[in-house]
Amino acid sequence: MSFGFNESQEMFRREMHNFSQKELAPGAKERAKLDYIPSDVLKKMAGMGLLGFNVPERYGGETIDWVSLGISTEAVGQADFNLSLPTILSAGIGIALQMAPEEVQAQWFPPVVAGETMLSLATTEPGLGSDVANTACRAVRDGTSYILSGEKTSVSLGMQSSACIVFAKTDPTQGARGVTAFLVPLEQERVSRSRILDMGCKPIGRASIFLDNVAVPESHRLGEEGRGFHLVMSQFDTIRVLLGLICMGAAQTSLDEAINYAKQRMAFGKPIGKFEGVSFKIAEAATMIEAGRLLSYRALAMKDAGQFHAKESAMVKWLCPVIAVDVIHNCLLIHGQIGYSEEYPLEQRLRDVMGFELADGTADIMKLIIVREIMGREYLPY
Ligand SMILES: Cc1cc2nc3c(=O)[nH]c(=O)nc-3n(C[C@H](O)[C@H](O)[C@H](O)COP(=O)(O)OP(=O)(O)OC[C@H]3O[C@@H](n4cnc5c(N)ncnc54)[C@H](O)[C@@H]3O)c2cc1C
Repeated sequence: MSFGFNESQEMFRREMHNFSQKELAPGAKERAKLDYIPSDVLKKMAGMGLLGFNVPERYGGETIDWVSLGISTEAVGQADFNLSLPTILSAGIGIALQMAPEEVQAQWFPPVVAGETMLSLATTEPGLGSDVANTACRAVRDGTSYILSGEKTSVSLGMQSSACIVFAKTDPTQGARGVTAFLVPLEQERVSRSRILDMGCKPIGRASIFLDNVAVPESHRLGEEGRGFHLVMSQFDTIRVLLGLICMGAAQTSLDEAINYAKQRMAFGKPIGKFEGVSFKIAEAATMIEAGRLLSYRALAMKDAGQFHAKESAMVKWLCPVIAVDVIHNCLLIHGQIGYSEEYPLEQRLRDVMGFELADGTADIMKLIIVREIMGREYLPY
């Protein structure tokens, strides 16, 4: 077994790390207070190709292996947790949008890759979250269009994105097989949006989106009717691993800060790093981050090898946010009273990573996937 990156992945890692630290890390603390992602930063990310992964080359994108995609999202997460979301959203949406006709791809891909606009993705509704197949949002065929109605909520980048992939029921008599995915342009009359005031991840700007009989052309349907659920489950499986690596990036930055602090801060005539109550926390955090990273990159290597990895993805999505919350919490404690203040980025990072305990599936839902894979579907509670 090989546990390292190959030569080109290692070069890519260095390049991504250097760029993220130089261009994205400065100003991260100030940006975390904003309720949008500033366009100049998006443009910088676009310049580095960070918004074009999984997008066809003819639209300015680049197909890279999943391990490299993990490397780039971890590097961005290490510099600025919130900036990693546009990267993974465009990577996920890059796959989904390729199911649309060329003219739709030609309309939406180039501005996304250039950082001029962003797309979002909406499965959650006020009445459902984990139970994605049960969507109440309706899409009714009307000639060559569909009329969409309903409310989506908790949509990351919901206020800032100009189009959203919406999952709606085309056949209400069916469960998962009745769900279809549509690309819905948001800047139109029959769409309204409202911001959700969040405790963290503020620049990601979650929103509710209201669809009041919105006509969506058939060309904006992604895949066949009734295949929307399949799309979320198959393609977005791997995206979960990227969320885990973003958390590991944020945890690593916090640990680096805590190590520096522990070497400088004096108490009882010694640097606090000499006390086991501090140094053991650091040792534990380093170990947990390494475990989370190894599990994540293994899942991505399995994806690259064409292996089924639902169990491994679920393990990552459950474990990495838990590790990050624990590590950042302990790093905050190592900083003592100043760690609790807004002057240091630890309290904000803690609020941010907690969001990823929920986003894209809770720990409970991830454990259900693990149970399904190791015990059998008959041991699911439903
Ligand atoms: C920062 C952030 C970003 C997000 N971004 C997006 C986005 O871009 N697009 C989008 O559509 N959604 C987004 N979400 C929503 C997220 O996907 C949902 O919060 C998540 O799927 C859970 O749904 P819910 O919150 O409705 O919880 P529910 O499904 O109502 O669950 C509530 C609680 O019950 C537990 N539970 C539910 N069912 C079971 C079960 N069968 N067994 C055991 N426990 C169970 C859950 O684990 C949870 O603790 C985001 C959320 C956050 C916090």
